[in-house]
Amino acid sequence: MKPNDRILLLRSTLERYNHAYYVLAQPLVSDAEFDHLLHELQDLEAQHPEFFDANSPTQRVGSDLSNEFVSAAHRYPMLSLGNVYSAEELQAFDERVCKQFDGTVEYVCELKFDGVSISLIYERGQLQQALTRGDGIRGDDVTVNVRTIRTIPLALQGNVPSPLEMRGEIILPHSSFQKMNEERIANGEPAFANPRNAAAGTLKLLDSQQVAKRRLDNFAYHLLCEEMPFATHYESLQAAQAFGFKVSEHTRLCANIAEVIDFIKHWDAARKSLPYDTDGVVVKVNNYAQQRALGYTAKTPRWAVAYKFAAEQASTTLLAVSYQVGRTGAITPVANLEPVQLAGTTVKRASLHNADQIQLLDVRVGDKVFVEKGGEIIPKIVGVDISLRPAHSEPLRYITHCPECGAALVRSNDEAKHYCPNEENCPPQIVGKIIHFISRKAMNIDGLGEETAELFYQKGLVKTVADLYSISKEALLQLERIAEKSAENILQSIAKSKTMTFERVLFALGIRYVGETTAKTIARAFLSLDALQNASIEELQAVDEVGEQIAKSVYDFMHNPKNVLLLFQLREAGLQMECSANVLINNVLQGKTFVITGTLSQPREAFKARIEQCGGKVSSTISSATNYLLAGEKAGSKLAKAKQLGVAVIDEAQLAAMIGEQSITTDKQLF
Ligand SMILES: [Zn+2]
Repeated sequence: MKPNDRILLLRSTLERYNHAYYVLAQPLVSDAEFDHLLHELQDLEAQHPEFFDANSPTQRVGSDLSNEFVSAAHRYPMLSLGNVYSAEELQAFDERVCKQFDGTVEYVCELKFDGVSISLIYERGQLQQALTRGDGIRGDDVTVNVRTIRTIPLALQGNVPSPLEMRGEIILPHSSFQKMNEERIANGEPAFANPRNAAAGTLKLLDSQQVAKRRLDNFAYHLLCEEMPFATHYESLQAAQAFGFKVSEHTRLCANIAEVIDFIKHWDAARKSLPYDTDGVVVKVNNYAQQRALGYTAKTPRWAVAYKFAAEQASTTLLAVSYQVGRTGAITPVANLEPVQLAGTTVKRASLHNADQIQLLDVRVGDKVFVEKGGEIIPKIVGVDISLRPAHSEPLRYITHCPECGAALVRSNDEAKHYCPNEENCPPQIVGKIIHFISRKAMNIDGLGEETAELFYQKGLVKTVADLYSISKEALLQLERIAEKSAENILQSIAKSKTMTFERVLFALGIRYVGETTAKTIARAFLSLDALQNASIEELQAVDEVGEQIAKSVYDFMHNPKNVLLLFQLREAGLQMECSANVLINNVLQGKTFVITGTLSQPREAFKARIEQCGGKVSSTISSATNYLLAGEKAGSKLAKAKQLGVAVIDEAQLAAMIGEQSITTDKQLF
């Protein structure tokens, strides 16, 4: 046998043994036999480097080459699901679904694993790329680390569609989590808070050999491809299993919503004996044709919903309340608690939100309080056990002055929070703004850490984020902690941030109420800083999902003279103040304004992005300036208005033709 033939035979045999052992839990050979064959393959590959294959079973042990996590675009956006918390809400979901069809609708119930979502791309059955969810549009490429996860097939079995995308959840089982934390504590490293954090941390390790040792696991739950050869989601999961994926054995096909509710009731209790964390049940319409008919809202599919199990509660003592000052000056009261175990983590602090909340709960120092953990990172206090209240306890008195700068706090009528108004001289506000600006999701100035940013402020080097762009190397070298090399790093990563998109810049500015998603929405609606600075409150409010509060906040920010100066300086420094042309694929829709309405085969955002990539604009209100109305099924008032105004009405196929594509919606499902 030629060496290459032997190599190929060993690879397929070992991958089959691996699948039997890790996915099916039915070993075909002894460990010794497996190791023997693996060593033979390693030797042959070492002798014949020309036959290298990144998907060889020998690559599952990882490599000592350092990883780099570049980001890449998802083929199909990774959307999140709408949440429900009760049987009533599920019934309502079912009614919405069923009223579109005759009779009952079949659902697939899947346990919702508490881990890290992953998208696995296979070309001709070979694993090509693994992306994290990221912002849903782009994710981090973690392929090298994912190859070490034994329950993820590197090569698929049988006749598989190509390309094929498999969505799944990477989890860390309890046993691996405990072992890992014991080792970390023994090494003097901080323990991970819970298996999900540990899984996320592991997936981003730079050394894939370390990842291989951590024993991550994966459940596959959603298959996507261009031409779906199956009629239902359940069939696709069975096929996925045959391809070699690990699909949860607890996934169940339910004939109606009553069976779904039974399934949930069972697992609400039974999940506690599972060897991994789950936080709910995902309910999906089984039939693909029905899924397509239901379509999407702006953010989520209409054919699926996530039922979240009730958060767990614990009781502990409130030791003290401290007050944090955020970058916007908002004061957050924080409860310092006697450490208590809650949903697998140790809780020492909890949010008290604001003065109203404290008053409402009448929570006092020394009280026994109930702490609950929802989806939030910081748990919250939900109640007080008054029966255990110590004698002579006194109501908590909320602070009247900023704990950091001493300024008298203000609170306007429509605000729940108190604010420190001393924007220019309150240290945590200034430093907080800088730290937010440089953070990963904002300008991603990773050469500069939080501590260095704080040092810059203390040494008077940086008072506003614009100052970052005029720092000189000489000035950096005068700081005792910074050497030549790190000075260069810092300057380089500051310079690199100038290429960050306008959406990011807008988010980085830290405008009150403008989070990542809102920044994106606003940037895409106005396309440039100029347009945004000239926008009225009404125009801002006309943007999807921008309410009065956000609109006013943006308007005030843009018209504050200090910010006008800041924005001028940032523009001079070379930051992107327009939606960049690099996302532009072509210009065929330039000068054309679209409005989108009705139920489409994909979320509106997807069509919006596509139109913008081709140079067009998308507005949320229809007027005589609108060129086209892209109308899906059940289009309502906008369609009527378009006809009245004589605006051209087009469907998906016509849009596809306009941008020179066969179709925008060829069976592409999004999840
Ligand atoms: Zn202050």
